[in-house]
Amino acid sequence: MKNFKKTMILLLILGMVFSLAACGDEADGGEASEESSEITPMTEGEYLMEVDGYKPMTVEVTLSETAVESIEIIQHDETEGVSDAALEEIPKEIVEKQSVSIDAVSGATETSNGVITAVTNAIEEAGGVVDEFKAAESGDVAEEESSDPVALSSGEIPESWDDTYDVVVVGGGFAGLAAAENASTSGAETLLIDKMPALGGNSQINGGVYASHTSRIADDLYDKLNLEPDSAEQHIEDTLEGGDNFSDEKLVENFVYGAPVFLDMMLENGLEVRESITRPGGHYGYRTYTTINGIGADIVSVQRKMLDETSTEVMLNTKMVQIYRDNTEEQRVVGIRVETNDGMKNIKAENGVVLTTGGFSGNEEMRSTHVPTLSEDDLTSNHVGATGEGITIAQAIGAGTKHMSYIQLYPFSNPENGRLDAAALIPFSGPSSGVVYVDVEGNRYVNEGGRRDVCARAAQESGGFPTFAIFGQEIVEKGGFIEESQLNEMIDSDRVFKADSLEELADMINDHEYQGESVSMPGESLNETILDHNSYVADGEDPEFGKQIDTGSMLSIDEGPYYAVPQWPSVHHTMGGLTISDRTEVQDIYGEVIPGLFAAGEVVGGVHGSNRLGSNAIPDAAVHGYIAGQMAAEGTLPEFVPER
Ligand SMILES: Cc1cc2nc3c(=O)[nH]c(=O)nc-3n(C[C@H](O)[C@H](O)[C@H](O)COP(=O)(O)OP(=O)(O)OC[C@H]3O[C@@H](n4cnc5c(N)ncnc54)[C@H](O)[C@@H]3O)c2cc1C
Repeated sequence: MKNFKKTMILLLILGMVFSLAACGDEADGGEASEESSEITPMTEGEYLMEVDGYKPMTVEVTLSETAVESIEIIQHDETEGVSDAALEEIPKEIVEKQSVSIDAVSGATETSNGVITAVTNAIEEAGGVVDEFKAAESGDVAEEESSDPVALSSGEIPESWDDTYDVVVVGGGFAGLAAAENASTSGAETLLIDKMPALGGNSQINGGVYASHTSRIADDLYDKLNLEPDSAEQHIEDTLEGGDNFSDEKLVENFVYGAPVFLDMMLENGLEVRESITRPGGHYGYRTYTTINGIGADIVSVQRKMLDETSTEVMLNTKMVQIYRDNTEEQRVVGIRVETNDGMKNIKAENGVVLTTGGFSGNEEMRSTHVPTLSEDDLTSNHVGATGEGITIAQAIGAGTKHMSYIQLYPFSNPENGRLDAAALIPFSGPSSGVVYVDVEGNRYVNEGGRRDVCARAAQESGGFPTFAIFGQEIVEKGGFIEESQLNEMIDSDRVFKADSLEELADMINDHEYQGESVSMPGESLNETILDHNSYVADGEDPEFGKQIDTGSMLSIDEGPYYAVPQWPSVHHTMGGLTISDRTEVQDIYGEVIPGLFAAGEVVGGVHGSNRLGSNAIPDAAVHGYIAGQMAAEGTLPEFVPER
């Protein structure tokens, strides 16, 4: 049945391609190519159009009698980063092609459509006929720029290529760096591109916490910290449960078994980690390592160093805008089209393309399409390039997606700007050491060991803004996850408050404003909450929220100085994305492999189910990137991937 459907679709596609070609022949010949003779004369002049993009914008359209001469965006409030390409490219394309039938820039559809509407309105106001500016449906333009995704996959393969490589990796975060390094080491001539001026994406600004059930330094650390060792089975179970069993178990196994292999590779190549292994929310085994500076850049720089030792070529400011999938029976991905500072280029990939373009938390329009309750007012922890077009570009050649509506909020971001800075990691790493979360009344509002979705929702329903993580000096000294010098910087910049008593700490909390709002936390209530919690730690039981208390490693907060970190949820991780096989091959909407296309990291859906456990994303991205690089280069799997 599936094959029958595919055959029918293929016939339809071929029919469309032939009919487009036929239209093209007609339009190419004789008078039909004399564009100006077909244009109804317009009243020439400058037309100032007020239209809606994602937000209202003002566009000046200059028309001659028979042509759109120029388009200038006079004023707009579109989202910086997300809409830039649309504001720049759409006007250029309309003028170049004298057509309003052009593709919206992926991830910025409303902005693109706003500009197109301004031009169509101006043409109408000038007495012109908009249909005469829809050239994309005929002739050469149709063949080159058709917006039909199916026609793209089969109808348009460049006759010559600007560059050719064995493997082309798109996106240079943990996943892309691992893919490129392993592809190159496996013997493939490899290109790594990134649209940003620097490599790193979200991986660079990430918090550097990495879940791995073991490592080459694990035995020493478990001994020193008096902790129970962990197991792969427990890591797999926690991850599946943490995502409400929506995960693809094979993908979970891949990254859990690969996590120690990749971590050891990083350690052997110079990565330094702190003397701690924590058990953040949703993990029931001690398995979370923190890099020495508590930042993903620690890992990225080791990956960069390893990549530099290979022959991989790196191109920055190079944005993938299209994937080429040929029209032979195999329907293989053969290359990509990129936008560079020197114009558009077509790059051939002899063996395969690896998509490692990350998630879409930074794309307000895309995320609210999938979760309408998220609005532009919700802040995000992500870098500006997390706009998700890797997903939509792959969808245009038939790729399937899953779990697109599972979007995670990080519960402990900086309430001022949504960022996950170093201070925002304390509440994350702290639950197993005894860090307590309180609301504006100074009361606990959730089990601190709970999953991110649970903690985020509880904060939003706590009845005030923001919430606070509270801890004492003993946790700073013995927890192992807080660097004192870093803590002092946070105190100096008022990101963390420090006081000699809990009442004074409440006063400090009340002396500050949070996005212009103040709170009035009663000092005695904060004091009472902490005294109660201390008694739970001593008893080994939390009668209020049922938190797991490991006596011996969880500490009470009974000695000053005392500390508070303000915290609030922000949009953090998109669990949904492209569907892949357990060998990182991208699958089409029918679940069949698209030859020559691989994906890894946050661009993929199905690894974390409905909710990702903190510290699982680094091993997921890096391990699946490593697998994808090798698959694209030579079609083999690393040894840690279980035999199936
Ligand atoms: C602030 C923050 C802290 C985090 N902390 C942790 C943590 O401590 N532990 C943990 O496990 N997880 C953490 N995460 C999650 C984790 O960092 C991400 O899931 C992970 O970095 C994703 O890696 P990636 O390689 O898939 O994508 P990214 O690192 O985002 O890289 C994708 C790259 O693709 C590029 N790109 C996108 N589109 C295109 C295109 N069209 N053409 C060319 N290039 C393109 C981007 O510019 C980017 O460089 C954190 C996330 C954030 C935002």
